[in-house]
Amino acid sequence: MVKTKQLYEGKAKKVYATNEDGVYIVSYKDDATAFNGLKKGTIEGKGSINNRVSNHLMGLLHQSGIPTHFIEELNERETAVRAVQIVPLEVIVRNIAAGSLSKRLGLEEGTKLKTTVLEYCYKNDDLGDPMLNEYHIKAMELATEDELAIISSYSFEINKILSEYLLDLGIELVDFKLEFGRADDGSIILADEISPDTCRFWDSKTKTKLDKDRFRRDLGNVEDAYKEILKRLMGV
Ligand code: UDP
Repeated sequence: MVKTKQLYEGKAKKVYATNEDGVYIVSYKDDATAFNGLKKGTIEGKGSINNRVSNHLMGLLHQSGIPTHFIEELNERETAVRAVQIVPLEVIVRNIAAGSLSKRLGLEEGTKLKTTVLEYCYKNDDLGDPMLNEYHIKAMELATEDELAIISSYSFEINKILSEYLLDLGIELVDFKLEFGRADDGSIILADEISPDTCRFWDSKTKTKLDKDRFRRDLGNVEDAYKEILKRLMGV
């Protein structure tokens, strides 16, 4: 399989078309941004760590019956994925209050939520990814009612599978962001990535942050945190 044309360059990844029908190649970058691109930097080794972490977790989800875009890891930072049309929603799943939720609702970071919270944001950088509810999504035809039902049910299931798996490795899954796509047959599948860039991972004993918050908040040891997540997932 060979790359034919670059289709997209985002903050953390590039996506290429390939000579195979319905297959894209994702290439993970070391670039890091936060606060809608206002803060920029590089996290050395991040691209290859996120590639491996995301593929590992997608593999786990696939085994549990969640359809994903993952096809094959090609090398350190590149993966072949099913071509999809991305549903323009960021689906955020929260177990513990942190980040924007803590700010918005005045909940202390670390407060265990009585029930899992699902949020939708409109993927639109110019508007700063505003939060939406199901009515907005239907009114703007971003997804159909049936698609939303599938997306929410997959999201809760993914939360359960990942939370249990990670807790065994001493990691608390505080919150995370998912993106879904429409495959060529119209079915909804999990796309994008699941990595320390898109999840809050806390050490379950010490509550040390092992994710992108170390970069966002200048906490230091950013590379080490990403390495630690990979190490625990790979069992080395
Ligand atoms: N998140 C993400 N991309 C975004 C916004 C959020 O991956 O554009 C992830 C973030 O890493 C965290 C969760 O979604 O795990 C919830 O983020 P939050 O709404 O608290 O926003 P933040 O505090 O990151 O601005």
